[in-house]
Amino acid sequence: MMNKEAVLVVFSGGQDSTTCLFWAKKNFKKVYALSFLYGQKHRKEVELARDIAKEAEVEFEIMDVSFIAHLGKNSLTDTSIEMDQVKPDGSFPNTFVPGRNLFFLSIAAVYAREKGINHIVTGVSQTDFSGYPDCRDAFIKSLNVTLNLAMDEQFVIHTPLMWIDKAETWALADELGVLELVRNKTLTCYNGVMGDGCGHCPACRLRGEGLKKYFASDIYRLRHNNK
Ligand code: ZN
Repeated sequence: MMNKEAVLVVFSGGQDSTTCLFWAKKNFKKVYALSFLYGQKHRKEVELARDIAKEAEVEFEIMDVSFIAHLGKNSLTDTSIEMDQVKPDGSFPNTFVPGRNLFFLSIAAVYAREKGINHIVTGVSQTDFSGYPDCRDAFIKSLNVTLNLAMDEQFVIHTPLMWIDKAETWALADELGVLELVRNKTLTCYNGVMGDGCGHCPACRLRGEGLKKYFASDIYRLRHNNK
C-alpha cells in the first residue's frame, strides 16, 4: 500500500509542487523533494524551495541541470526577453523550455531508482497546462511506460493536480492544512515576487484568479464557517 512507501516529489517551490509535496506527505511515509537548477532568472526560487522543504521536514536535494538553458532561449533564463510579452494567440508562452518535464522526470526517475524509490510525484496539470505539451496526461503516462522499460523498474508517476484547476488546487492546499503556507511562502511569479506576487504576470493572474474563485466557493465557506 502507498502509505508504507517512499516518494520523490519534483519540487520547484511554486504553488503546484508545494501542494504536491504536502499531498505526498499525507500519502507516503517518507518524502524526498528534488529541485532542478536550470539557469532560472530567479535563483531565489531554489532557496525558497529549500526553506519550504525544511519546514515540511522532507529530504531536499538540488540537481544542477543548467545545461538545458543552453538548448534554447526562453524568458526564465534569458533576461533579454520581457516576461509580460506573452502571446495571446495560443502559441507557446515564452517561458517554454521544450521538453522540460521530459528532462526533469527522466532525471528524477534515475535519482529515485538510486534511492530505491518507485513513486514519483509531479505537479503538472492538463487543466491549466498553458500550452506545455509535456504537462498533458498522455505524455506523463507514455513517459511512465518508457521509464519502466528503460530501467526495467515499476515506477508510478502520480499527478494529483492533473485534472484540477487553480481554484481546486487552492482547495486541495486548504484541505491539506497548508493554504497559508502555500499562499505566503511559494514563488510562482515570473517577476520573482513571493507569495501573491506582482499580480500582473500570467502566472500571478492564473494563481490570483484561482484563489479568488476558491475564496468565493461554497466549499471555502463551509470549511471556514463564513457566510
Ligand atoms: Zn507575477
